[in-house]
Amino acid sequence: MQGKMMHRPLRIIDILAFAAEVHADAGIVSARTEGDVHRATYPQIMARTAQLANALHGLGVGTGDRVATLAWNGHRHFELYFGVAGIGAVCHTINPRLPAEQILYIIDHADDRLLFVDLTFVPLVEGLRDQLPADLRLVIMTDRAHMPDTPLDALCYEELLADQPAGIDWPEVPEDTAAGLCYTSGTTGHPKGALYTHRSTVLHALTVPLSQTTSFRAGRRIMPVVPMFHVNAWGLPYNAPLTGMTLVMPGPNLDGPGLFSLMDAERVYSGWGVPTVWAGLLSEIEAQGRVPEGFADLVVGGSAAPRAMIEAYEARGVTVSQAWGMTEMSPIGTHGVLPPRMQDAPEQTRIDMKCNAGRRLFGVDFKIVDDDGRRQPHDGQTTGELYVRGNTVISEYFENPGATRAAMDGEGWFGTGDVASVDPHGLLTIRDRAKDLVKSGGEWISSIDLENAATSHPAIHACAVIAIPHPKWDERPVLVAVPAGEDRPALEDLHAHMAPHFAKWQMPDDVIYVDDLPLTATGKISKLTLRERFADYVLPELREAT
Ligand code: AMP
Repeated sequence: MQGKMMHRPLRIIDILAFAAEVHADAGIVSARTEGDVHRATYPQIMARTAQLANALHGLGVGTGDRVATLAWNGHRHFELYFGVAGIGAVCHTINPRLPAEQILYIIDHADDRLLFVDLTFVPLVEGLRDQLPADLRLVIMTDRAHMPDTPLDALCYEELLADQPAGIDWPEVPEDTAAGLCYTSGTTGHPKGALYTHRSTVLHALTVPLSQTTSFRAGRRIMPVVPMFHVNAWGLPYNAPLTGMTLVMPGPNLDGPGLFSLMDAERVYSGWGVPTVWAGLLSEIEAQGRVPEGFADLVVGGSAAPRAMIEAYEARGVTVSQAWGMTEMSPIGTHGVLPPRMQDAPEQTRIDMKCNAGRRLFGVDFKIVDDDGRRQPHDGQTTGELYVRGNTVISEYFENPGATRAAMDGEGWFGTGDVASVDPHGLLTIRDRAKDLVKSGGEWISSIDLENAATSHPAIHACAVIAIPHPKWDERPVLVAVPAGEDRPALEDLHAHMAPHFAKWQMPDDVIYVDDLPLTATGKISKLTLRERFADYVLPELREAT
């Protein structure tokens, strides 16, 4: 029997409309690329978002069109999130840290109509100018006074909004309409697109605060240090207005001193980001001998939070929790808030628990499988590849059937490439990574791409890239190579050879020459053996520091 209840589509714009009405005192504080700090309430942002939507209509943007951004965290980027999705178009956030050839690939693959660019990234776009599609229109995200002297044929964001009406009839977009697009570079080959819907985004926004109960409190301030150009800043631009929190957006100021002073001045209660940024903030906290005023809650994700970091923040009265997730999961799949029974446990027991990735969110199902795809028990011990299923998980990659086939199993679950165990209470422990990648500062580096580029050098016979732990970047790539003859090219020579295909930060930190590489039973290079062999290896930069 069919129930008799209304069915209203879940729409992203309704989150902002709700905040503008119910949480009208909250809003967004943005440290902008212009150097100022901008403040606006949700009602003011709602009006500007309507102006933007009207302007987009004026530029011919229609349902399903892709509108790209190259931007930091700030109110204009937020307006694009809501304004673009609000009219049924797709907000495509581009990661400016990707190598130029990947940025060009994804602009082409996504078939972007418009590209909105923060001032910082104007030189990047100028460098790509000759290779961008001829019909791609550019908008620089600033006012007329700050428009740069550039050869780009670009519109000015504030002028675009200026004369537009501050109201609009938002269309009734069906909830499965695409709303956001984010490419992950988390494999070899071309980046792959996760295409979020209004429904998946709203459900994610609703479920995350249910488990992360320490972070979301109406009237308090929350700072996404995780960038809006990567998986929607973990959904915070949606969670914050929904829960009545003010967003404090750091813009380009992501170093320890920059974060400290903004958090201190703006009384940020909760901060979210990858371990690298929290390592930077910790140094500043140690230098100043105090935490930023009002800072009490820290959510670490993107890579495992080191135990020493958790201990250091907790010792200063900041509650730490981990979140685990993926671009393909909108992205959050777990949260590490302690269950009530653990609240009074001894400190070391609580820290042990916080070193895990947390318990699963409502609506995200886990499955651990062995090498033959057989389900393994959730006993907290048995390890296997983690598969996930749920309303916030991709059903396929955007226009990429090959990658989709490789990622999904026969039962419709998505393979995360993480090797993990799950306990009977849904607690996830990440044990290893099946995907051949290095994660540095929250961003991926493909070992296989580096290996292919290095072996194309005539003096390199064979090689393997392994991840070496780094206190600031979490991991850095190191090349272990077998030379083809007597010649052993220096690291700089290899960098010069590989440069066209990688961003500078993706290059290996060192090259180690060996006579041969260890092989597995099936004849593949055994990275496990290599990692064990180089367990005591110290990166050159750190050697010099000691
Ligand atoms: P991305 O799609 O770039 O967000 O990266 C997702 C991947 O980051 C996951 O599949 C994990 O390998 C890794 N990751 C994210 N959060 C954590 C965490 N808390 N602990 C360990 N690894 C993590």
